[in-house]
Amino acid sequence: MAAKRKVCFTGPMGVTIAEDILRNAGCEIVMGKPQDDFRTFRYERKELVNLIGDCPIVYPSGRDMIGADILDSCPDLQAVVKSSIGIETVDVDAATDLGILCCNSPTPENYLGVAEATMGFMVALFKRLKFNEAFIRNGGWKELQNRGTLMLGKTVGIIGVGRIGQNVAKRLGAWGMKVLGYDPYVRQETVIDLGVKMVSLEELLRQSDLVTLHVVLTRETRGMVGMREFKMMKPTAFIVNTSRGPALKEAELVQALNEKVIAGAALDVFEEEPLPMGSPLRQVDPMRLILTPHNIGANPGSGEAGQKMAAQSMLAILDGRIPDTVVNPLAIPRWKERFGS
Ligand code: NAD
Repeated sequence: MAAKRKVCFTGPMGVTIAEDILRNAGCEIVMGKPQDDFRTFRYERKELVNLIGDCPIVYPSGRDMIGADILDSCPDLQAVVKSSIGIETVDVDAATDLGILCCNSPTPENYLGVAEATMGFMVALFKRLKFNEAFIRNGGWKELQNRGTLMLGKTVGIIGVGRIGQNVAKRLGAWGMKVLGYDPYVRQETVIDLGVKMVSLEELLRQSDLVTLHVVLTRETRGMVGMREFKMMKPTAFIVNTSRGPALKEAELVQALNEKVIAGAALDVFEEEPLPMGSPLRQVDPMRLILTPHNIGANPGSGEAGQKMAAQSMLAILDGRIPDTVVNPLAIPRWKERFGS
């Protein structure tokens, strides 16, 4: 039996590309609460289940969690499709058990945007950009102790050497920097041409002048960097996180910066988003901490490309095809059994 051409958008955004593509392909769209107007809104379980109703596909916003309780209560649901790379707001294990496909949208505009932004953070930290910019505005001029660091020959440690980590490595190589990598799922041969030396996490932390996090958020990576790890780093070293906030223990970072265990940090992602007004991160000396609102890697092209890729995945599934954006291929046999024609 062909699936209903019906998709639930839990939190529509300003950009309507996915919506336009789906409507042009004859799909009906069920709209939830717009993200722009309800950023901190949380659906009650029943409300979200009713919204999804008999839609075979849900297209959740970054705000909305699709847990096992939701998946289990939507018998017509065949797939959860995201326009982002990160899919940790979906209970992928539960979806796999139920034969529900989960898809993400890893577009070059997105992952290269983040790799570029990470380079920007690195330059800002090594060159003391924020400090000197504020200094001159307050009437200061060049002073020896305010000089930056030569990046050439310095060591950067990449934790999570996937799409973004590898593209950061590529850029660092061109700058003559040494690159260490830690990723239990990536072999040395895969990244040898990028000049990445794969090492243990401890060796990476001890040797790097800057550590940058590019892991997917999983049970394993949640909280993987905290005070224990900061204490292994050089006191002159920096940490950058453009991956997912909960990979790093925020309260311990605040302490490490205040106690000068490490020299500085740059964060684009947070344990709770939007960053709460009362977050202790806001109280840290701004010269030692750069904060951006989870948009440093974003660009107009990344939003559009993500929506386009997501819409293509959705149309494939509605036509009974399996897109190559499926992140839980183990769900496929059960999906075929439950929904195959
Ligand atoms: P990816 O899947 O290509 O790479 C992630 C890497 O993490 C993989 O190589 C994986 O093996 C590795 N990993 C898994 N467990 C690990 C562990 N325990 N220790 C070390 N490494 C581990 O993903 P990607 O496209 O490179 O994205 C990386 C991260 O960036 C994701 O968390 C994604 O959500 C995030 N992201 C953020 C933004 C942003 O706007 N800031 C945009 C896009 C992606």
